[in-house]
Amino acid sequence: MKTVNKNAIAGESLSPYKGSPILDIITEKQLRTCVHCGLCLSFCPTYKATGLEMDSPRGRIYQIRGLASGEISADDPDLRKHLDLCLGCRACETACPSGVPYGSLLEAARAQLEPNSKTERAIRKVTLGFLFMRPWAMHSAGFGLRLYQKGGVQKAVHATKLLNVLPGKLDEKEKMLPDAQGGIRKQKFDEIIPAKGATKARVAFLTGCIQDELFRGTNADTINVLTRNGCQVLMPKNQACCGALHSHTGDIEHARELARRNIMAFEQTGADFYIVNASGCGSAMKDYAHLLHSDAAYAERAKKFVAKVRDLSEILVEVGFVPPKGRLKARVTYQDACHMRHGQKIFEQPRKLIKQIPGVEFVEMKESDWCCGSAGIYNVVQPEMANEVLGWKTANIRQTNADIVVASNPGCAIQISYGLREDGQKAEVLHLAELLERAYKAGE
Ligand code: SF4
Ligand code: SF4
Repeated sequence: MKTVNKNAIAGESLSPYKGSPILDIITEKQLRTCVHCGLCLSFCPTYKATGLEMDSPRGRIYQIRGLASGEISADDPDLRKHLDLCLGCRACETACPSGVPYGSLLEAARAQLEPNSKTERAIRKVTLGFLFMRPWAMHSAGFGLRLYQKGGVQKAVHATKLLNVLPGKLDEKEKMLPDAQGGIRKQKFDEIIPAKGATKARVAFLTGCIQDELFRGTNADTINVLTRNGCQVLMPKNQACCGALHSHTGDIEHARELARRNIMAFEQTGADFYIVNASGCGSAMKDYAHLLHSDAAYAERAKKFVAKVRDLSEILVEVGFVPPKGRLKARVTYQDACHMRHGQKIFEQPRKLIKQIPGVEFVEMKESDWCCGSAGIYNVVQPEMANEVLGWKTANIRQTNADIVVASNPGCAIQISYGLREDGQKAEVLHLAELLERAYKAGE
């Protein structure tokens, strides 16, 4: 690894991290928390796969400290390789007895790194800097994809076998695309949707960006489940992408801008709670106070915002869940999305809800809290490691003999569905809201 110890060159005797731009995002105390005990190593998927210390949480923290002190240069190819291979699953955070905020360290380090190539820079600019920043652009892209899938274009393309001959393994990549729910045009939601029966809470709902374009059916089920449980649902105008992908790739400035937009949009609703049904978005929104800690105008507002954010499973337990009356005769297992289990520490609530569905036999999956390999866009940029990790997951699902796998994150649902298809398994993958709504409808 290249070494450039700027503080040593300057004869600096103070902290080796003094002046590092990393300290704009995390504190020096957070950077120093790791005591190298190694208790996290056996929970790290990439360490399991490669056996290399530098692909373990402890090894990566060592490298991040080197980057912060200037001992390791930001363009060091080894540093890049080991940080890029990290799933960002944060399993190490849950395992760590010292409370190392690994996810924040990783995001702060990634913010210091330039894109690997001109192509990556261009892709980031188009997606993170443009598409995810402008709702109209995301709506247009979503419409284009639905037109491709539902308007007969996809069938025609498959008939020509064009994807098999074009470079870039497009046929393989297309297999990973989810089937957009609904028709070409999106189902519209009212701005205020009343609770069924007495109102227990007024909640503002994040429809999400990808979720809103591809999983409108899941959003509709979420709204129905909320109203059945006494929640009046409000749709914040001008809500934005949560900024999770931006944070994970180190694009902190865009992540902060999106956080400010959402704080403004959700505050205007006057709701009691802000509800999210995608774990990656929920985790990102619960991190807004950390993200905006140095923004004088938003730091306090961000803290108040975070105190109101709830995952769907959390709010249902909190308001007093009304179990469905319908029976679902199915063996059901649950995949803990990383940003649910490790990012938000939500574990019991979804299981508690599933177990209350009449007829359901709940079966726990081995390593249910291990990443499925989706990890944002990881399965696209690191397909080999993503497939290895996915292979462990599908093997564990097979062992459960489940009819239904519940995964409360669109990325996990897409990845696991793809893995099951490739593995020839028949289990259905559902969001928690879809499972609950199916049970409610069965009782009507
Ligand atoms: S985030 Fe996941 S892949 Fe990365 S070091 Fe931690 S456990 Fe390993
Ligand atoms: S991250 Fe935590 S568990 Fe892992 S080596 Fe450091 S202190 Fe130990």
